[in-house]
Amino acid sequence: MASAHKEGNAFIETPWVQTAEDCLARAKTDPSKGLSDAEADHRRQTWGMNRLKESQNKSTWQILVNQFKSMIVAVLILAAIASFAFGDWIEGVAILIVVVINTVIGLFMELKAVRSMEALRQMEQITTTVLRDGSAQRIDAAHLVPGDIIILEAGDIVSSDMRLLEAAKLRVDESMLTGESVAVYKSTEPIDNESTPVADRKNMLFKGTALVGGSGKAVVTATGMMTELGHISELTEQSDEEEFTPLEKRLGQFGKKLLWITFGIVIVVGAVGVFQGRDMVTMIKTAVALAIAAIPEGLPIVATIAMARGMLRMARRNAIVKKLAAVETLGGTNVICTDKTGTLTENKMTVTQLALPEGKIDVHAQKSETGSYFEKDGGFIDPGEDAVLAEMLKVFVLCNNASLHEEEDKAVGDPLEVALLEAAAKADMHRPELADRMPEEREEAFDPSIRKMATFNREVDELYVAVKGAAEAVLEVSTHVREDGGAAELDEAKRDEWLDLNEKMAREGLRVLSAAYKTVSSTDEEPYEGLTFLGLIGMMDPPRQDVDKAIEKCHHAGLRVVMVTGDQKETAGYIASAIGLAHNDGDEIIEGKDIRPVEELSDDERDRFVRSHVFARVSPEQKLNLIGIHRKAGSVVAMTGDGVNDAPSLQNADIGIAMGGRGTQVAQEASDMVLKDDAFSTIVAAIEHGRIIFDNIRKFVVYLLSGNAGEIMIVFFASLLGLPMPILPLQILFLNIISDVFPALALGLSEGSGDEMNRPPRDSSEPVLTLKHWGGVFGWGLLIAVPVLAVFVWCLEGLEWNTESAVTISFLSLAFGRLWHIFNMRDQRSHFIKNEIVRNRYVWYALGLCTLLLLGLVYLPVISDVLQLTQPAVHGWTLIIAVSLIPYVLGQLFREIPMGESK
Ligand code: ADP
Ligand code: MG
Repeated sequence: MASAHKEGNAFIETPWVQTAEDCLARAKTDPSKGLSDAEADHRRQTWGMNRLKESQNKSTWQILVNQFKSMIVAVLILAAIASFAFGDWIEGVAILIVVVINTVIGLFMELKAVRSMEALRQMEQITTTVLRDGSAQRIDAAHLVPGDIIILEAGDIVSSDMRLLEAAKLRVDESMLTGESVAVYKSTEPIDNESTPVADRKNMLFKGTALVGGSGKAVVTATGMMTELGHISELTEQSDEEEFTPLEKRLGQFGKKLLWITFGIVIVVGAVGVFQGRDMVTMIKTAVALAIAAIPEGLPIVATIAMARGMLRMARRNAIVKKLAAVETLGGTNVICTDKTGTLTENKMTVTQLALPEGKIDVHAQKSETGSYFEKDGGFIDPGEDAVLAEMLKVFVLCNNASLHEEEDKAVGDPLEVALLEAAAKADMHRPELADRMPEEREEAFDPSIRKMATFNREVDELYVAVKGAAEAVLEVSTHVREDGGAAELDEAKRDEWLDLNEKMAREGLRVLSAAYKTVSSTDEEPYEGLTFLGLIGMMDPPRQDVDKAIEKCHHAGLRVVMVTGDQKETAGYIASAIGLAHNDGDEIIEGKDIRPVEELSDDERDRFVRSHVFARVSPEQKLNLIGIHRKAGSVVAMTGDGVNDAPSLQNADIGIAMGGRGTQVAQEASDMVLKDDAFSTIVAAIEHGRIIFDNIRKFVVYLLSGNAGEIMIVFFASLLGLPMPILPLQILFLNIISDVFPALALGLSEGSGDEMNRPPRDSSEPVLTLKHWGGVFGWGLLIAVPVLAVFVWCLEGLEWNTESAVTISFLSLAFGRLWHIFNMRDQRSHFIKNEIVRNRYVWYALGLCTLLLLGLVYLPVISDVLQLTQPAVHGWTLIIAVSLIPYVLGQLFREIPMGESK
């Protein structure tokens, strides 16, 4: 494989054989400060943006070629050949022109759809933590340059190739590059062989791979197309298969079905024709007309645009849908399993309470007159005087990955850790100083399965182990408790006292964390044993403002909301009742350890699980079981997640929802949808949009198909009755390809009736069109066809007009009838006038445009000849208007009969 060093102009050649120091020297970077912004800008001019060539964007040309691959075009070309064969030159040429028009419209619309999708893709921007001008900043990974110093954390996606400078238990999933699915450990040791394959370059990280554990620091050695990933993407000219959604697939199958139905009808008509002794030419022409009439030519393109536009609208509401299929699934979702912290709550934490062995301390937001924030037994104390308090804050500051930038009032990192730093700052204890004095030599990153985190910090000739985590988890591994003078044994009774205290604080809605420490001699020692316990800290994390409203909306919409949190029962219960999730205190809160795999549960237990609204102390692994349990009950489950360990459940849920703000990039990769603002209400908005989109799709499918059904019936009955064709093939083509598409598109762009969240979710096993909808298609078709046939017969027989004038009347009655028919597509329960169709401005644009087009057909000289239309007189127009209104008027009268409803 081509490597950067073989290109001859690489930034650093073969960085893996060099020591970290050599790499840094060549990169001309200070590892503690990083590059300056000016230097970075300068380097970007030389090395370019950190982007792969955007080969995935479809070219206009490709989209154009795709237009010709459709069945419709095949049918049309056959029709044109048939016309030429019968010497009907005008019709043949006209059909070819229609093919061109169809292609242009298709091209234009698909371009729009494709470009919207690309716009969506661009919103999934990857950010990375980089040292610039001496401070850590999160920037768009596209702006990285060679020589940048990167801070790495579990859950990140590696955004360029880099040489490791520090690595603490750093594990990387490189499967996308090497095919190896087991995560590999990385180190900083140089490798002495220049031709070491990518998979064995243990001191390098490669763009596109995922950090699944540990932490580290690295210097960027290659960006953009110079990375290993860049080389690969250059080699394999991207030949991704188009990503079809289940809906598109179903619509495709649906098109095939229609073709067969048409084929059947053609045979019946043919048989009748033979029986009636009709001539071949008429029969073939009828067959062509039928084939053209049956296919809803505009359907695929309208579907694509409706989906793409719907997704853009969702993106504007902060929900980025990554997989098209999710739009459809969202509409059918009926269980939302959501995180607590940050989704239901603000994730802005403040320490308000401390519980130490010698008593409780309140932490105030405002400084007292004595200059202290800390109140104990009714009086303010000097935190420096209290040894245990100082020790505890020290643990929280050391065992921490956040940073405060006090002057700028900006904080980076986990809000919980930020809150701890802020509390310590109130006691005048600051992380940069402390970390300088006691440098970190090892870190056990926070693991949500064991709910603990630890760091080993150098203190002269010993190592200070700082541990923080959930109370019960830390107490379990503590043997002593710090008391004024020294440490006392932690017996069962004391342990229970602490657990009680923890529960009490949690019941007040506080998020509780505990601290413990010990000293050891080497970094190889186990951190989680023999610790000395220090006490508890309680933080407030208020519920988000709009959450209770969103939850109420869910209840109206038949959606079950389930809180799934790593936090403890009491805190979870407090928040649940604060936001109206649990209605009374009697609601059962189930703990994660009880969530066994669905196969192991009895029916009763399953029932209990399905009914519970709150699950506490749930580990990421147990989330998977919970998904299984709800699935078994026939639900469509949306599940949120943010950590690396959440990736399996995000993949497993029907809709995996990752947090865009606090979520790891690994979680975002595994998800179907990303919430830019992490908010619960955004999930609800997305579901609402999902429902609207699905409703819209149903509406325009029914709308298009009922028009087609009408045409088939007209042709079919006319040939049964031995009448001339009331509508000619070219006229049908015009209707299907041009004048039908715009109203259908308008339906596809509808913003909904506002009633979507007042009904239960759609049954997910339900097809796009149910039997009821098919009944509707048939009924509407009849309603459209009969008046047209009747007026045709009346013109021919009653008024004794010539065929051409009669056809003009029947064609225009059909065309306008189908236009007004759009108003029949309103929701079952909506008002006669005030409904979502009337309110939809696109509907009026479409009707205006189509009316102009139809007038053009009649009054523009050449075109009217080609379509064989005459100019109706006042009498004619009166007939047309009256007849075309019949489907609408009768449709509104039959309103109460459920037909062709979108539910
Ligand atoms: P949540 O559902 O509230 O986001 P988490 O899985 O993040 O839950 O956390 C579970 C528990 O782990 C928390 O209640 C807390 O006790 C502990 N915890 C959370 N974050 C950290 C951290 N950074 N360091 C140590 N312990 C933590
Ligand atoms: Mg969390």
